[in-house]
Amino acid sequence: MDAVSVWRIADWDLDVGTSDSGSIYKHQCMSCGQTSGAAVTADGPDVWCLRHAKRTGHTEFRGTVTTFFRASLAEGPR
Ligand SMILES: [Zn+2]
Repeated sequence: MDAVSVWRIADWDLDVGTSDSGSIYKHQCMSCGQTSGAAVTADGPDVWCLRHAKRTGHTEFRGTVTTFFRASLAEGPR
């Protein structure tokens, strides 16, 4: 029996937020490195920055948003 190779060329889609989890927000103080902790909205980390600034005088922060993606085979011809 001869070996047969089959090549399939397909298009793929990349979708945002198809996992069970939405985006995750987390802020970090640029002066001391303390972090807000992770949250499902930016509100909590934003308030943490304001409280941290009031308490420490540190005024610069970095925000990180983690977003989940899922790749899947595209349906139908393109
Ligand atoms: Zn700080």
